[in-house]
Amino acid sequence: MKPAPFDLARPATLADVVATLAEGGPEVRVLAGGQSLGPMLNLRVAQPRLLVQVNHLSELAGAAADKDGLTLGACVTHAAIAAGRTPDLMGGVLARVAVGIAYHAVRTRGTIGGSLCHADPAADWVCTLSALDAEVELQSAAGVRRMTVAAFITGAFATALMPGEILTALRIRHPLPNAVFGYAKACRKPGDFAHAMAAALIAGSTRRLVVGALGGRPLVLSGAEASIDGAVAALADLDAVERQMQRAVVRRALAQAGA
Ligand SMILES: Cc1cc2nc3c(=O)[nH]c(=O)nc-3n(C[C@H](O)[C@H](O)[C@H](O)COP(=O)(O)OP(=O)(O)OC[C@H]3O[C@@H](n4cnc5c(N)ncnc54)[C@H](O)[C@@H]3O)c2cc1C
Repeated sequence: MKPAPFDLARPATLADVVATLAEGGPEVRVLAGGQSLGPMLNLRVAQPRLLVQVNHLSELAGAAADKDGLTLGACVTHAAIAAGRTPDLMGGVLARVAVGIAYHAVRTRGTIGGSLCHADPAADWVCTLSALDAEVELQSAAGVRRMTVAAFITGAFATALMPGEILTALRIRHPLPNAVFGYAKACRKPGDFAHAMAAALIAGSTRRLVVGALGGRPLVLSGAEASIDGAVAALADLDAVERQMQRAVVRRALAQAGA
């Protein structure tokens, strides 16, 4: 199939993007790398009247570190993170996650912001950034809102993004100095979306465990519940095969994180 007809805008600045989105109404969609939206258009799952392209804007492609953490523009690509062209955390955990996303061609165009806004339950950034307790920055004509990634993702392919809003950046605070990160996923073959995934961040008694690829929002466990027993109890409703796969990746993520 081919997309239904649509118009394409390519504003020159973020301010112009925000103004275009404000005028457009619900039939307007942001176009970043097009790696998820492209297939949705071709299958006519999405039939927007207007696409607003944003991945050419330098305002959305910056990446910087300061003493408190990292800021990544929404249009930073998976490839830029995988190649270490952006600041990273804890010796390169973001690069390690990015290099496992899809294939090189997808990583070259796909963006971290697009991945979060698409909110596929099996997306690597949804799980990873929830574990790192990252924040999103959302901008519209009404101003700027910030919230945690865990609050931003409201369900499968559902977010807290309002009509007229664009995700502009992500903010990740430096974890505690003794923090260790673990990440594991189970895919049928390399480059496929995962059937089970888990990310763990452990700093002494401060523990956070996120289980993804559950078909909805990720499961976020903290404190004593961020353990294999806590995950097994929380995943009791899964069928036996899914539960076994999730248990395996949780065990690996926790082991990597030193738990
Ligand atoms: C073959 C294949 C394999 C893949 N495998 C994986 C995988 O293993 N793991 C994984 O995590 N992902 C995978 N993906 C998805 C990939 O990571 C995409 O890059 C990502 O989901 C979407 O990013 P994008 O920049 O292409 O967004 P787009 O496709 O341009 O947009 C996706 C959605 O987000 C909205 N959007 C985009 N940017 C913004 C913004 N800044 N503000 C507001 N709304 C926005 C769009 O309107 C659209 O609804 C795969 C994709 C393909 C095609």
